[in-house]
Amino acid sequence: MFKKILIANRGEIALRIQRACRELGVKAVMVYSEADREAKYIKLADESVCIGPAPSKDSYLNMPAIISAAEVTDAEAIHPGYGFLSENADFAERVEKSGFKFIGPSPESIRIMGDKVSAKQTMIKAGVPCVPGSEGALPDDPVLIKRTAKQIGYPVIIKAAGGGGGRGMRVVHTEAALLHAVQTTKAEAGAAFGNPEVYMEKFLQNPRHIEIQILADQHKNAVWLGERDCSMQRRHQKVMEEAPAPGIPRKLIERIGERCVAAVKKIGYRGAGTFEFLYENGEFYFIEMNTRVQVEHPVTEWITGVDIVRTQIMVAAGEKLPFAQRDIELKGHSIECRINAEDPYKFIPSPGRITTWHTPGGPGVRVDSHIYANYFVPPNYDSMIGKIIVHGDTREQALARMSTALAETVVEGINTNIPLHRELMVDAKFMDGGTNIHYLEEWLSKRER
Ligand code: ADP
Repeated sequence: MFKKILIANRGEIALRIQRACRELGVKAVMVYSEADREAKYIKLADESVCIGPAPSKDSYLNMPAIISAAEVTDAEAIHPGYGFLSENADFAERVEKSGFKFIGPSPESIRIMGDKVSAKQTMIKAGVPCVPGSEGALPDDPVLIKRTAKQIGYPVIIKAAGGGGGRGMRVVHTEAALLHAVQTTKAEAGAAFGNPEVYMEKFLQNPRHIEIQILADQHKNAVWLGERDCSMQRRHQKVMEEAPAPGIPRKLIERIGERCVAAVKKIGYRGAGTFEFLYENGEFYFIEMNTRVQVEHPVTEWITGVDIVRTQIMVAAGEKLPFAQRDIELKGHSIECRINAEDPYKFIPSPGRITTWHTPGGPGVRVDSHIYANYFVPPNYDSMIGKIIVHGDTREQALARMSTALAETVVEGINTNIPLHRELMVDAKFMDGGTNIHYLEEWLSKRER
């Protein structure tokens, strides 16, 4: 096992990784920007290093500064968390070339999965079902583009090969709008992701977003840890997640989970990863793979009893997975609400000083957050300030526990989306389970204040 790990992230996930290090008896080095200097999780760390001013590009995305911090503190490995440099293959490569272990898959795996065109091609070869679409990137020839769309059938979606975070996508309903949409998406993708390549997929009308968590070691062992339903999205961003996915036959989920494990073994993947699928009419369609720990990992931890972050660290250190597929049993139901510092109606970010912070508790309640009273939410980063996660024997119990937990929570000084979550927990359709990826947006458009 490592003696010391550097955590190249901030906020709740930095604290989550720090906690896993403590349990394992590993020292944690935190890096921080000037905006995060006063944060308690920095003060709690064994060691900490300032890596630059507030803007991410000068600090949490500053590769040389992070690698020198690992050098001066004698860390052996770097955990990238999620976001920032976690899916940057060049960073993973630089970390390893500098003599540190990158806690994640190989740079090669990250590179393949980071390009959605090569990811899809790899998955097709590995026997994972994908959304019907163009074979690879779209050519320049307008005749070929039109022919591809006709074969797939309208509506289609044009997606950037380098896209992420819900950006770089455009839905096209008619041939008349096709070429313009392809050109615009290409231009935007070139500017935003430095890669103008786009591809085409059938636009599924009413799918659910279902994802499969996997873990793999360096000794050819891999398991899948059930699924998560992340269909509650606003602007393609997840707002709330749950596990298991309500109403999907176990047989179908098992079949897709086994496919994911087979693919992981085939491509020699190591570490934690998530296969994201759209699910419609009993079929799963792969859309992308995330090569890192995800925000919503706690719901899986709760129904499986597996500590995903701890296992990530163990397999990066070369240890074997401490469990086999037959040891993985799903128990009960778990729901996560992402707590964002934002206006609950207009969704405008609401940074600033938190004056009151009262967190919920009781059976089946977990709070993952780095916040405390008098904490200043900096305006420079993502607005998520924490997560409330609950577990119950049944989905009904989990819903009731989440409602209670949200009612107990008090945050003052800034706005949060807690009122939104409170309303959703008692929404009849959501309570029924199985809402699709458009449900939340439709609900918001009809919402009364
Ligand atoms: P990103 O990497 O930006 O998150 P994804 O490929 O994971 O992009 O897609 C994000 C979301 O966009 C999905 O969860 C879904 O809501 C929507 N989406 C993507 N592809 C399709 C498709 N073929 N049909 C319908 N919706 C899609």
